Amino acid sequence: MSTPKLRAELDGIPVYKPGRPPVAAEGVPAYKLSSNENPYPPLPGVMEAVTAAMGAFNRYPDLACSQLTAELAERFDVPAGHVATGTGSVGVAQQLVQATAGTGDEVVYAWRSFEAYPIITRIGGARPVQVPLNAAEAHDLDAMADAITARTRLVFVCNPNNPTGTVVRRAALERFLDRVPADVLVVLDEAYREFSTDPDVPDGIDLYRDRPNVAVLRTFSKAYGLAGLRVGFAIAHEPVADALRKTAVPFGVSQVGQDAAVASLRAEPALLERVAGLVVERSRVVEALAAQGWTVPETQANFVWLRLGDRTEAFAAACERAGATVRPFPGEGVRITIGETEANDLLLRAAEKFRKELPSDLL
Ligand SMILES: *Cc1c(COP(=O)(O)O)cnc(C)c1O
Repeated sequence: MSTPKLRAELDGIPVYKPGRPPVAAEGVPAYKLSSNENPYPPLPGVMEAVTAAMGAFNRYPDLACSQLTAELAERFDVPAGHVATGTGSVGVAQQLVQATAGTGDEVVYAWRSFEAYPIITRIGGARPVQVPLNAAEAHDLDAMADAITARTRLVFVCNPNNPTGTVVRRAALERFLDRVPADVLVVLDEAYREFSTDPDVPDGIDLYRDRPNVAVLRTFSKAYGLAGLRVGFAIAHEPVADALRKTAVPFGVSQVGQDAAVASLRAEPALLERVAGLVVERSRVVEALAAQGWTVPETQANFVWLRLGDRTEAFAAACERAGATVRPFPGEGVRITIGETEANDLLLRAAEKFRKELPSDLL
């Protein structure tokens, strides 16, 4: 029996692997440190906005996300026509690939970086060009610039980088942008921007203003705590933003999501307080892991990366038994989200125990 013809490009595309939820076992806590989510309850005003919007979900949402777009434009001091919303920033990233790259074109990004990049590149029929991270687990921008060819249509720069937490700083990024041809779109994926406390890490929105080939991706999923509602956006010059409006799934962002995002934007003081709390916890976790003897790359995000190689899965299993689920990348390392204080304490105890039980020749 014959089956429907599917595009050959889909063969072998990896399926996106979400961070696993914790396994609940009798008497053991179950913390999820595997998806870089915000551990806190919704910001003030968000539940009220969501509850109100819920009463009208027999209606389609505002297709243009007008109110959210207007508030984002004001917040970032950009024209409303430069704001394009979508179903999470992954959705917007996929639209950017769709808008720029087709069969035979190339999309350049660092590796390891966000695992959605190879998937959305290949769905579009384009060829992924993966440029290895440097020894400090950070983007090698010179090598990335060297990897650009006449077929390159888009370059992702993930800043801070998921899953390593490392950043690219202003001078290096500006030098890189100066090298990229004007007809290649550079997408600065700033999903973790709110957690970055280093003043030398540039705000992509400053860089995009006089660079028509730069687009900035932001999300409400991480610091703002709306991962389940799927709201992200890009800030880009008119031609790119217009292309995003053309490639958007109609009505992709629910009214609940739009209203929750608006309420979250208006709760900035509470947001900053929570982010500051997580940043304090990040420092504590990084210092404690280093004191235990682990090599921890500098992180400006809400997670830390341990390059564990062959010990990755054993470490993840040990954390899971202790009650914290982390995100293993088998053979490479684990990404550990900074969670609530108790979760971080538990993680640190599990890491210490794992280290003590390791044969010393494996350290
Ligand atoms: C989490 C994440 C996103 C955004 O996810 P959405 O929930 O789709 O907004 C985008 N980029 C990176 C690097 C991420 O880690």
